[in-house]
Amino acid sequence: MKYYDKLIFELSKEGRTGYSLGTSPFAVDGVVPEAGIPAGLRRGDAPSLPQVSEVDVVRHYTNLSQMNFGVDTGFYPLGSCTMKYNPKINEEIANMKGFQGLHPLQPASTVQGALEVYRGMDKALSAITGMAGFTFNPCAGAHGELTGLMIMRRYHILRGDLKRTKVIVPDSAHGTNPASAAVCGLEVVVVKSKADGLVDVNDLKPLLGEDIAGIMMTNPNTLGLFEKDIRQIADLIHGCGGLLYYDGANMNPLIGVARPGDMGFDILHLNLHKSFSTPHGGGGPGSGPVGVCEKLLPYLPVPKVVENAEGELEIVCGSEKAAGQVSGFLGNFGVILRAYAYILMLGKQNVKMVGRYSTLAANYIKESLKDCYKLPIPSVCKHEFVFDGLIDDGSKKAADGSVEREGATTLDVAKRLLDFGFHAPTIYFPLLFHQAIMIEPTETESLETLDAFIEVMKKIAAEAAEDPAILKAAPHNAPITRPDETTAARQPVLKFQDEIQ
Ligand SMILES: *Cc1c(COP(=O)(O)O)cnc(C)c1O
Repeated sequence: MKYYDKLIFELSKEGRTGYSLGTSPFAVDGVVPEAGIPAGLRRGDAPSLPQVSEVDVVRHYTNLSQMNFGVDTGFYPLGSCTMKYNPKINEEIANMKGFQGLHPLQPASTVQGALEVYRGMDKALSAITGMAGFTFNPCAGAHGELTGLMIMRRYHILRGDLKRTKVIVPDSAHGTNPASAAVCGLEVVVVKSKADGLVDVNDLKPLLGEDIAGIMMTNPNTLGLFEKDIRQIADLIHGCGGLLYYDGANMNPLIGVARPGDMGFDILHLNLHKSFSTPHGGGGPGSGPVGVCEKLLPYLPVPKVVENAEGELEIVCGSEKAAGQVSGFLGNFGVILRAYAYILMLGKQNVKMVGRYSTLAANYIKESLKDCYKLPIPSVCKHEFVFDGLIDDGSKKAADGSVEREGATTLDVAKRLLDFGFHAPTIYFPLLFHQAIMIEPTETESLETLDAFIEVMKKIAAEAAEDPAILKAAPHNAPITRPDETTAARQPVLKFQDEIQ
């Protein structure tokens, strides 16, 4: 362990200081008068803060920042998450004073510029997706799913069509899809995928009927494959009176190439914090705008931005058909603003290249590594694809069939990648394959970076074949090795233990 891997509490030395407060202007004879905090709200003892010098504080925070991994520090091929680079100009614009100091209760006449951002985004996203209009109120992808399903339910209920309580979800779906349906009070019916990874239309047909509210699909699906029967599926769902919901978290490869609206989808959400280059991870602010086709526009939740008779933009709250209110005010404005900067920076011509380059990068990695890693579905992928573990994992069997040497697993590959400074891909998801490794490079990486990743993945495969023990003990160079991830997630210890006791 390096000296500065110590916690700041462990560096503490009684009486050491890094900063001294000046004289308080409120002090009387050198003593600051007591503030009128009620006794019940005051702490009994002084907090046990670490006592350290300025240089120890600086090193503490600098070292902490370097233990973090982000898109700004290295390649992050986390499948399903679209960890593309977020251009710094987005941050500069979000930090502009005129935007930063806004308050949501300011009169609309004083925030015309900000409201114009909503109108501009509405236009841009409608053009990109083939929808008629958007709400920007949902704060995440899953929140958008719930909002979209609320719109779907409300549409059926207001028509007096009360039997439609079931929603169809493919077995390859992202886990949030069935979860959102359940939260919305809908019953989930699963449709199976075929061996080629696409929705089985023959399995879908018998599920259709008067109780179907709609279907939730993502295209390309969670395996990175384009659902080429989508038009037929849309006809079948519409034919039975249902609606099509598009989980647009996988929109990246389609930007400028194809539009969900043209495929027959009625409602969708986008993840601005994935496809539209705003920071994400660690549960930070997100944005999951929901777009709908023309006939569903009145069902969008409130508040919403509209243009009045004088040509001014205003925020309206009342709406007869609206599917309620899903968040305070108009969503996470800073995230929406960053996405708008990104779209305007690329422009109509260049935005078309996002989908093409992300697809090219994924296929390049897939084809370069398929001799070392099992590729269960060999067809051309979109922005991501899934391997099913190593071809030669280095396991050995004795003559009697007993295991002589345990081979390397997907977890071992992921841990070993950390030693080479790459973030691990998504592992053990989707659930269709036992050793899933899901890789999504995005369009923002250079050919050299992709080649460096491919070389490391090949080296790891060679190590696994020769001596899987190297992988099993990985990571060798990370601050921690292999935490118990379940305990870390379920019972996180977020405070210095001395404080708790
Ligand atoms: C990321 C993702 C979601 C959920 O988005 P959040 O913003 O994390 O709630 C839903 N569906 C798919 C396919 C995703 O990749």
